[in-house]
Amino acid sequence: MPVCIVGGGACGLTAAIALRSSGCDVLVLERDASGTGSTALSSGFIPAAQTRLQKALGIEDSQQSLIDDVMNKAHGHAPLHLVKAYVAAVTPAIDALEKMGLPFEIVDGFLYPGHSVRRMHTMPEKTGATFMTRLAQVAQDLGADVLGEARVCELWVNSNDKVLGVGYVRPDGTIEHVASQFVLLACNGFGGNTEMVKELLPEMANAVFAGHQGNDGTAIQWGRQLGLQMGDLDAYQGHGSWVTPQGALMTWAFIMEGGIQVNALGKRFNDETGGYSEAAMHVLNQPGSIAWNVFDAPLLTLLRTFPDFRDAEAAGALRTVQDVPALAALMGCDVDTLLATLHDVQAGHTDAMGRTFSRALQAPYHAMKVTGALFHTQGGLEVDAVCHVLKADGQPMHNLYAAGGAARGVSGRGADGYLAGNGLLSAVGGGWLVAQDIAQQLKVA
Ligand SMILES: Cc1cc2nc3c(=O)[nH]c(=O)nc-3n(C[C@H](O)[C@H](O)[C@H](O)COP(=O)(O)OP(=O)(O)OC[C@H]3O[C@@H](n4cnc5c(N)ncnc54)[C@H](O)[C@@H]3O)c2cc1C
Repeated sequence: MPVCIVGGGACGLTAAIALRSSGCDVLVLERDASGTGSTALSSGFIPAAQTRLQKALGIEDSQQSLIDDVMNKAHGHAPLHLVKAYVAAVTPAIDALEKMGLPFEIVDGFLYPGHSVRRMHTMPEKTGATFMTRLAQVAQDLGADVLGEARVCELWVNSNDKVLGVGYVRPDGTIEHVASQFVLLACNGFGGNTEMVKELLPEMANAVFAGHQGNDGTAIQWGRQLGLQMGDLDAYQGHGSWVTPQGALMTWAFIMEGGIQVNALGKRFNDETGGYSEAAMHVLNQPGSIAWNVFDAPLLTLLRTFPDFRDAEAAGALRTVQDVPALAALMGCDVDTLLATLHDVQAGHTDAMGRTFSRALQAPYHAMKVTGALFHTQGGLEVDAVCHVLKADGQPMHNLYAAGGAARGVSGRGADGYLAGNGLLSAVGGGWLVAQDIAQQLKVA
């Protein structure tokens, strides 16, 4: 087999589609019956600059602006070669997928923290699940072989650091092998591996993991066995707005449009507009590891455009009260404290934590109880600008690639370097990039 891809999420399927478009045969091995991965659990928002769609909508953007936004959010600590490569690759990837029938739209109505312009490309349903369904259909139409219930458990490498192929376990327990000229590790990170989270992200050890259980750290464990370079293993995407106990994402859009987070004492505890990833820790550090997302009628209208929010509402998570004393009773906090907190939320006012408000919240008030969650890990195998994995001496392994959540991310270290969309930027951009590199080599050969 010319190319074998481990994992059929956004990264694996994007690569498979690009390879098939170039006439290359490819086998995707997927541990689940069909590829869903964390991508299907996500909102499916993919940042890209200067796409056909952006231009058609008259949105002025540049790849440099997206690069700058990613680097600024990561405090300059993201690997610039990778940021540039992903940003350059994600644009043709989105344009090509659109041509193949994916009905991209650009998220409207608000900007995520750190993004200069509207550039989040999504499916009309605003879900990663529908993105995955469409990717799978295109991959199938193009003739990509996607084998489900095939968990890759062996990576065969010879003494010259050349990958020979992989072994994968079938539902009856037998292990089958396939030889491959090129292997792409697209099996995401280690967020679903409790032991690795404890070891590498101790601050998230007790957080809910909202990603896919297949994020079991396989790629990183192989990398450790082979002595490969790793990058930013302490980096992750958290989220400070995971509705509890229902278990659903409440989009940060409500913060960017004027909503607030209040703890069980009736106090705000940070400038929420900094970002949702770092907010996970801020919320986990509050009494009971919870916060209340507080908002009003205009924000409820916005929130209801998001399917995850509608699910949470349908599950009974939305609380509505007529005034501040009722809100205080709901939260179990002191009324005067909560009144003082809301008093700060006035148009033009900048609070002690540095947040400037554009308007006050009006009664009736709406609230949802949330906690901090781990969404996915951002560290992984160190890769060069075409996603070859790097050996301990810095030299690339010429036929082994890693991208998406399996590779080092573009979010620097810790939680606060994650710019919204970095996950799918790496998965879609990375999958596209790897496919171009492999296709070129296969044509030359
Ligand atoms: C709730 C939530 C919301 C999110 N929203 C966004 C968003 O809007 N925008 C954004 O950019 N990011 C978002 N993310 C992050 C995003 O989902 C991930 O960064 C992205 O899905 C990673 O893509 P991937 O292809 O690398 O991994 P995945 O989509 O997880 O795919 C990996 C695949 O590999 C398979 N696999 C694993 N191990 C093996 C093995 N040994 N053998 C065979 N198959 C294997 C898995 O089953 C899986 O199908 C969100 C995450 C969560 C949890």
